[in-house]
Amino acid sequence: MLIGCHVSPAGGPHKAIERGEERGCTAIQIFNQSPRGWKPNMYTEEQLGRYHEVKASSSVEAVLIHAIYLLNPASEDADIREKSLASLSTSLRVGDALGAQGVVLHPGSAKTGPVPPAIKQAGEVIAEALALSESCPLHLEITAGAGGTLGRTFAELAELIDAAGGSPRLGVCLDSCHLLASGYDVRTPESLSAVLDELEKELGLDRLGSLHLNDSQFPLGSNKDRHANLGEGELGETGCAAFLREPRFQALPCVLETPGPDGKGTSADEIAYAQRLHAG
Ligand SMILES: [Zn+2]
Ligand SMILES: [Zn+2]
Repeated sequence: MLIGCHVSPAGGPHKAIERGEERGCTAIQIFNQSPRGWKPNMYTEEQLGRYHEVKASSSVEAVLIHAIYLLNPASEDADIREKSLASLSTSLRVGDALGAQGVVLHPGSAKTGPVPPAIKQAGEVIAEALALSESCPLHLEITAGAGGTLGRTFAELAELIDAAGGSPRLGVCLDSCHLLASGYDVRTPESLSAVLDELEKELGLDRLGSLHLNDSQFPLGSNKDRHANLGEGELGETGCAAFLREPRFQALPCVLETPGPDGKGTSADEIAYAQRLHAG
């Protein structure tokens, strides 16, 4: 398992590799564009060259890109869908250029409307984004299940993959906090194993693409997406260790998106802690 955290690419994508290395990461995750606006961003040839040069001699082996949270491919608003497509397809092309393991996407929200047409809508946008890019995988992230968010269960993720055409490029990202919030008990090795048996039935293990390890401020089934530092939430050390040691997760990149000791993001100490829990 490659372990790391979300880092900033400020100054260019090679800086993200350096920030990961400083924290002892073997996997990192970045936003390829500002999460505060819609403007898609593709890196220049020079930035890409520098990135590949720095990455070649780095401890960081896996890079994930997180699509920004503004995206809603399921929106009823054609303008929002258009902007979501432009941003998502650009993130996938950046993923192609960076050799990323995948782009992670929150599949969208039906808001207060019915779910089936929202899934169909999201599927169309996702299929189009795949057609506009080459080969970078797209991982639909399980959500915490708040409001009308899509992808709160394995069955719903399977429906989204079907609605998007079932491409082999489509996979899922499992976030430990979101799983717990959505009602999947991942607090012990035994309960996590049962959850993965269910995933195997609903989605198939080959759809497993990436992992987010976050402890959760709120309990099982809360539908609240509030990350806690490892060992300091409802998963606790036992739940975090179970997630890191689950046999079916070992080939996947796993990144932390925790608040960190000072609220500025995951620290080197926390990565070292995760490595210790993983080693057992
Ligand atoms: Zn996440
Ligand atoms: Zn979250």
